[in-house]
Amino acid sequence: MSEDKIIRCITSDGAVVISAAETSNIVFKASRIHRTSPVAAAALGRLLTGCSIMGAQLKQKDASITLRVNGDNSELGAVIAVSDSSGNVRGYVQNPGCHTEYYDNGKINVGKAVGRTGVLNVMRDYGTGEPYIGMVPLVSGEIAEDITSYFGTSEQIPTVCALGVLLHKETHEVLLSGGFLLQLLPGADSSTIDKIEKNIEKLEPVTTMLAKGMSIKDICDAALDGFEVEVLDEMPIDYICACSREKVERAFLSLSDDDIRASADELGHAEASCHFCNKVYRFSKQELEELIAKRNSDNETSE
Ligand SMILES: [Zn+2]
Repeated sequence: MSEDKIIRCITSDGAVVISAAETSNIVFKASRIHRTSPVAAAALGRLLTGCSIMGAQLKQKDASITLRVNGDNSELGAVIAVSDSSGNVRGYVQNPGCHTEYYDNGKINVGKAVGRTGVLNVMRDYGTGEPYIGMVPLVSGEIAEDITSYFGTSEQIPTVCALGVLLHKETHEVLLSGGFLLQLLPGADSSTIDKIEKNIEKLEPVTTMLAKGMSIKDICDAALDGFEVEVLDEMPIDYICACSREKVERAFLSLSDDDIRASADELGHAEASCHFCNKVYRFSKQELEELIAKRNSDNETSE
């Protein structure tokens, strides 16, 4: 598999922007980490792809975006993805072993497992401590349509979003994954909209285009057929977890002294595992006591 990438293009009249991403490695990694069933791989993969594309749109270097899909009576439970402003993502699904059902045409029924009703939460954090939070009702639970609806209703940006994950028929291994997000800017007139609509109608599913050997630039060109296209940027993306022992220590320190001590098992160890990468952080009783002692001495010096 080639390296995952994201590309952003704009029409030279400035009326239409499109970002396209190939996320085959990212979704393959996510499916391995979380041991996903086919439907969990498809749902998480689509959300990771959409989140990466939306993350790469953030202009501030330290900004991040979190997408959280909470379907009603969802068999998958919540599906969560977080991206930084370079499009590097991580994510998880509450019930990765969720049973997989298929539509009559053989496609995975993602909407049923996600939940046809519920909400999509979008949280943009610019590092100022006051995140911007948007929320829309789910349209279908198929993820791409829900992201399209988010931009249309919450941000009033006419948007077309397509996301896809292709799994091996027998092994259910992730073979291909990708997506695009096309948006009309205020300069788009009705003839532009007509042309775009005709182009989009002709497009095949993203994984079909990738399987044919089309690059993400080819996909942008097909969506923007008839326009002059400029590439804004292209960057590598990956499944990257930002967890660290320091962050886990900080989480422990949000507890009281007694609760920190109570988190240790009979053998005197406390363990915390990362939701995003399953890495386990282990603390001995002595290390917990050192954390408590350090906090208490820090508090004294700051008073
Ligand atoms: Zn982690």
